[in-house]
Amino acid sequence: MEKVILIKYGELSTKKDNINFFLTKLKDNIEWSLKDMKVNITYDLGRMFIHTEEDFDKVINKVTKIFGIHEINIGYIITENSFDEISKKVVELLKDKTFTTFKVESRRSNKKIVKTSVELSKDMGAMILKNIPNVKVDVKNPEILINMEYRLDNVLVYFEKIKGLGGYPVGTLGKGLLMLSGGIDSPVAGYLSIKRGVKIEAIYFESPPHTSFEAKDKVIKLARKLAVYNNDINLHVINFTEIQEAIYKNIPHEYLITIMRRMMYRISAIIASRKNCKILINGESIGQVASQTLTSMNAINEVVKIPVIRPVACFDKLDIIDLAKKIDTYETSILPFEDCCTIFVPKHPVINPSKEKCGEYEKLIPYEELIYKAVKGDQILKIEAQEKNIYVDLL
Ligand code: ATP
Ligand code: MG
Repeated sequence: MEKVILIKYGELSTKKDNINFFLTKLKDNIEWSLKDMKVNITYDLGRMFIHTEEDFDKVINKVTKIFGIHEINIGYIITENSFDEISKKVVELLKDKTFTTFKVESRRSNKKIVKTSVELSKDMGAMILKNIPNVKVDVKNPEILINMEYRLDNVLVYFEKIKGLGGYPVGTLGKGLLMLSGGIDSPVAGYLSIKRGVKIEAIYFESPPHTSFEAKDKVIKLARKLAVYNNDINLHVINFTEIQEAIYKNIPHEYLITIMRRMMYRISAIIASRKNCKILINGESIGQVASQTLTSMNAINEVVKIPVIRPVACFDKLDIIDLAKKIDTYETSILPFEDCCTIFVPKHPVINPSKEKCGEYEKLIPYEELIYKAVKGDQILKIEAQEKNIYVDLL
C-alpha cells in the first residue's frame, strides 16, 4: 500500500477540450515548486499523485501555495482486488487513529463493480464496526471521514482534506505586466491575477534621488513574495526621475498625478508589448484617491490600447488589507519608504481631469523622447522565490 499526496483539481475539471494543457502545466508547476526534492508525479483526468519519500509536511507546505489545486489529501493506494483484502487494509490504517465516530463515503469510477457506492460504504462500515472496538457510525458529524475511491486499477483511501488555493495553474492564461508599487494594493492585485493563471512580470518606477534605495528594496521584497506563486518573477525597474521632474517643472500642479500616471501607463504598455504581456495589471481601486475616480481612470486609461485589469477595483480597503495579510505582503507594504508618487503629490490634485487639458499640458514636455530614454534604461531583475541573489540584465 503506497502512501501518496493526492491532488484534486476543482475548477480545472470544467475545461473539456484542453484539460490536458492545464494538467500538464499544473504538473510542471508542481515540479518547479518541488525542484529541490525527489518526487514523481503521475496524473489522470480526475486526480494527480505525488509519489515521494520526502517529508510529506514539507511537500504539502509547498503544494498549498500552487494555484490550480482545489484540495490536497494524504492518500493510500490499495492494489488488492477483493473487497475483503481492501477492507483489511482500511482497518489497518484506522488502527493508528483515535476516533469514536466515523462515516464512509465511496465513489466508484470502476463501473465493473456491481455494488452501488452506497452499498460499498455500508459494507465497509460493517467491516470497520466488526474489527475496531468501541466505534460507531455518525453520518451527520463524524470524527473521521473515510473517503474511498474505487478506480479502474486500484482503490484510493484518504481521510483529512486540506484546502488548496483554487484558481488556474500559473502560465495557462499567458502573461501580464503588473505595475508594482511599494503600497498595499498592487501586490494583492498581482496575487489575484496570478491566481487566474496569468504569469506576471512586474514594473516599478523609481525616481532616485527623490526615492530611496529602501523604497526599491521594499518592492524587490514584495516581488519575492509574489515569486512563490509565479515561479520566479522578472521585475523591470524604470528610472522615472527625468519624466517626473519635467512634469513637476512644467505642468500645472493639479495635473501632476494624472499626467504622471499617463506616462507610467505609456511606458508599461511598451514594456508589456516587448515581453509579450497581454494585459496591464494594477492596484487601482475605485474612489480610493483622486487619480482613481471614474473620470480620472478615463483620462489616464485613454493613452493605451492594451487592456488594464484592476483586480481590487471593487474591494474595500479593509478587504485588501485582509488579503495582504493572508499572502504575507502587508508587513512589507507598510514599511515607511516613499515611492515616487508620494513625493510629488500636489496639495489639490484634480478629481475630474479633462482629457483635452491632459493633451495640451503634455505638449509642454518632450515626453516621447523621455519615454524612449526611460524604456531604454529598463533594468530587469530576476527575483527568485527563495534565494536572495538576483541577476541584473540590462537591455
Ligand atoms: P498601492 O497601495 O498599490 O501603492 P495606491 O493606493 O497607493 O496603490 P496609487 O499610488 O494611485 O495608489 O497607485 C495606483 C496603482 O498604480 C498602484 O496600485 C500600482 O499598481 C501603480 N503604481 C503606482 N506607483 C507605482 C510605481 N512607483 N511603480 C509601479 N507602479 C505604480
Ligand atoms: Mg502607491
